[in-house]
Formats: sequence, C-alpha cells, structure tokens
Amino acid sequence: MRIVIVGGGLAGARTAERLRRGGFDGRVTLVGGEPHAAYDRPPLSKKVLTQDEEPAAPQYLPAADGIETVAGVHATFLDTAGHRVVLDDGASLGYDKLVIATGVRARRLFDGWRGVHVLRTWTDGLALRAALRDAKRVVVIGGGVLGCEIAASARTLGRDVTIVELLDQPLGAVLGDTIGAVIARKHRERGVDVRCGTRVERLDGTGQRVERVVLADGTTLDADLVVVAAGAVPNTEWLAGSAVRVADGVLCDRYGATSAINVFAAGDVARLPHPWAEGTVRLEHWTTAGDTAALVARNILASPSERVPLTAMPYFWTDQYQSKFQVIGLPGPDDELTVIDGDLDGKFAAHYSRDGVLTGVITVGMAAAVAKYRTLLGTPL
Ligand SMILES: Cc1cc2nc3c(=O)[nH]c(=O)nc-3n(C[C@H](O)[C@H](O)[C@H](O)COP(=O)(O)OP(=O)(O)OC[C@H]3O[C@@H](n4cnc5c(N)ncnc54)[C@H](O)[C@@H]3O)c2cc1C
Repeated sequence: MRIVIVGGGLAGARTAERLRRGGFDGRVTLVGGEPHAAYDRPPLSKKVLTQDEEPAAPQYLPAADGIETVAGVHATFLDTAGHRVVLDDGASLGYDKLVIATGVRARRLFDGWRGVHVLRTWTDGLALRAALRDAKRVVVIGGGVLGCEIAASARTLGRDVTIVELLDQPLGAVLGDTIGAVIARKHRERGVDVRCGTRVERLDGTGQRVERVVLADGTTLDADLVVVAAGAVPNTEWLAGSAVRVADGVLCDRYGATSAINVFAAGDVARLPHPWAEGTVRLEHWTTAGDTAALVARNILASPSERVPLTAMPYFWTDQYQSKFQVIGLPGPDDELTVIDGDLDGKFAAHYSRDGVLTGVITVGMAAAVAKYRTLLGTPL
C-alpha cells in the first residue's frame, strides 16, 4: 500500500510519524510545497523576530523513518477517480490512501506595495525580521493572535507600533471583549497604539513604497512597515474538480475522512465535526494539527469498525510579552466569562460558559489550572 501525504508542514510530518508508530511499514511519500523539511511555525512570530543572533535554520520537526520526501513541489490536481496526484514538476503520484495536509496561507492585502509583509513561512519570518530591524513605525493590520504577537515582538524591539483592528477589541472574535480588553491593556501599557473599531482604507507613499496608512475614520498613520495579519486562506484550490468537498477547508467526517474514497485531511486545512461544536470546526492550532494527524493515521490503518472519532480537547496558547495565554475548549466570544482565580490585572484563570455548561478555560501565568479544569469541560457548572 502507498500512502501519499500532500503538505509538508506539522500535520503532514505528524501523520507520517504516526503511520510509522502505528506499525505501517509500507511506502509513505510526503509532498511539501516549501523547500524545507517540516518545521515549527510558532517561533516565527516570537523568537525569530526578537532574538539578537541571526536565526540559522527553522526549528525542524523530527522526521519519521523511511519517508520519501518531495520538497519544493506543489500538488496541482487531485484525480480521485484515478487515485493520482498531479505535481507542478510534471510528475504524478499514484496512491492507495491520500492525506491532505496543505494548511493555510496568509491573506494578502495591498499586494505590490513595498514595505508590506505577511507572516506564515520561514521565508516570511526572515523577511519580516530584516524589515523590523530597519523600521521605525510599524502598523499591524489585524488584532488577532498573530497580529498581537507580531506587535508585541515589534514593540519589544523598540519600534513605534500601532495595531488596527476592525472589531471592538483585539482577539475579541476569539476570546470575547473582556479578555480582548486585557490584551489591549497589556499592549497599551507598553506603548502600543491599539486602534479598534476601524479599518485600513488605503496606503499612501512614493513609488509604491509605503509611507502612510489611511484609516476608514480619516486618520493617517506614518508607517515604514505594514504587517498584514488579517487571517488565513485554506490551500484547497488544487482540489477543484476532484471528489473532495471543500467549504472554507476540506470537509471531513468525524474520522477525518473526506467525501472522496480513501482521502483524508488533517491540520489547519481540515474541517471536522467536534463533539462540542455545532456543525464542523476548522482550528488553526498547533496541537490540533497533531491531534488530527494522529486521528487520520490511526483511522487509515484501522478497519472501518475500529475507526475512532475526533474527541481531542482543543488547546492553543499565545505569548504576549511575558504573558502566556493558554486556552482549552471551544469558548465562544459571547460566552459568559467568570474569573475563578487571580484577577484580570495579573495572573488569572477564568472559565467560559454557555447555557450553564463549561465551554472553555483561559489561564494567564497559571499553567497548572489548565490541567485541573480539563476534565470539567463540557459538564454543567
Ligand atoms: C507565525 C505563526 C505562529 C503561530 N503560533 C502559534 C501558537 O503560538 N500557538 C498555536 O497553538 N498555534 C500557533 N500557530 C499555528 C500552527 O503553527 C499551525 O496550526 C500549524 O502550523 C498547522 O500545521 P499544518 O501542517 O496544518 O499547516 P502548515 O504548517 O501551514 O503546513 C502546510 C504545508 O503545506 C504546503 N502546501 C500548501 N499547498 C500545497 C500544495 N498544493 N502542494 C504541496 N504542499 C502544499 C505549505 O507550503 C506548507 O508547508 C502559529 C502559526 C504561525 C504562522
């Protein structure tokens, strides 16, 4: 049996590793669009930007034994009837089972302007790191997890930083306005200009080199570096014309199987039902990439009656200056937030609930509380 994995990031690498760990000794081919072996992305918005010494290489992930890897090559078409993947170097690979792990890419705005960056890949990270060293005034478009981390890194380097966020608070869409206000305060205390409830209308400059950012409310901000952190787009275009159903990600059943026979999906690109969610969720979390990779590897090797559904508890973290925010569960922005330990000005643990049921826990500087509340999630208060 030959298993082909398309996408050489965390989910692809973990799927290969789990297949081997599960006892599969057949052929595994990993096709990755980047010219690197799989590496970890979280340091890109943190250490890679702030550390003094020039980072020499990405933080590579452990490689499983006996995996054929094809790097720097993209899949361009999936022939589900013929069980074949077509690559942009002209080759095509037959498969018995296929795993889609093509992740997401940064949404781009203001393409063609010099001084405008996004952050998804190692190459992006090095380019942004270099630009930050020369920059004086940085505008970050988007106050989500990534935008806030980039802003924190830029501020740590001593740059003038403005965050422009469409909603009322940074991270408000994910963690709600109360926690969003905590995060905004952390940034403001360090001198970041956090502007919420507005958006960037256009850029201004000479010869397509950004010099100013014009907001919808008419404000003009001087800027020599703009970072677009305005969300991500699933890499699914290559699936057009195949039997794989796509709707903001690859639609999977609870076993990670897609609508096409013998085709599975894992990581940021995969949209699965979760016992806690209505409908399906597509989570761009580091741990979910590993969880879905493990799920898919296991279910590929299992008989149909032995397949297991996704039940892993969603978890993510984000580092904002010296504070590590850890979140478990699937809290919604409108869920009720109750502080259960500490206070919002310092270290704290808080839980989210909806209709009297615990939906998530957030901690700052209280890592032990994450483990403590893990078992209570999903139960009535
Ligand atoms: C800067 C940054 C910081 C982060 N920090 C955190 C954090 O602090 N906490 C947290 O929980 N999560 C964090 N994440 C999220 C986490 O890194 C992702 O959830 C994880 O990388 C997802 O892995 P993946 O393999 O699904 O996708 P990816 O890592 O994106 O890998 C997908 C790979 O597929 C390749 N590919 C795409 N299309 C094709 C194609 N057609 N053919 C072949 N290959 C293709 C891509 O080039 C890419 O290499 C961060 C992400 C970024 C970008």
